[in-house]
Amino acid sequence: MERCPLCRAMLNGAETCRRCKAELQTVLRVERENQALLGAAMHRLSLGDAAASRRLLRLALGLHATPEVRALWQLVGAMPDPSDAAPQ
Ligand SMILES: [Zn+2]
Repeated sequence: MERCPLCRAMLNGAETCRRCKAELQTVLRVERENQALLGAAMHRLSLGDAAASRRLLRLALGLHATPEVRALWQLVGAMPDPSDAAPQ
């Protein structure tokens, strides 16, 4: 997060906004967790495990539906799910 979500001041890595004094630790923690989930989802997808990727992205969507999370969710959602295949 580059700017304070309340007043848009530059944060420069600070957890407290220098302008409005907002305490942003929780917001920054959610952002970090969301990035970790997104990274793990991309990693699982690179290993061909779309089902695990989908589970991680569902968690990320519940945390914070960023444009990156939504885009990857749509991509993974468009992929065939082997568990949906009819038994032979
Ligand atoms: Zn602020």
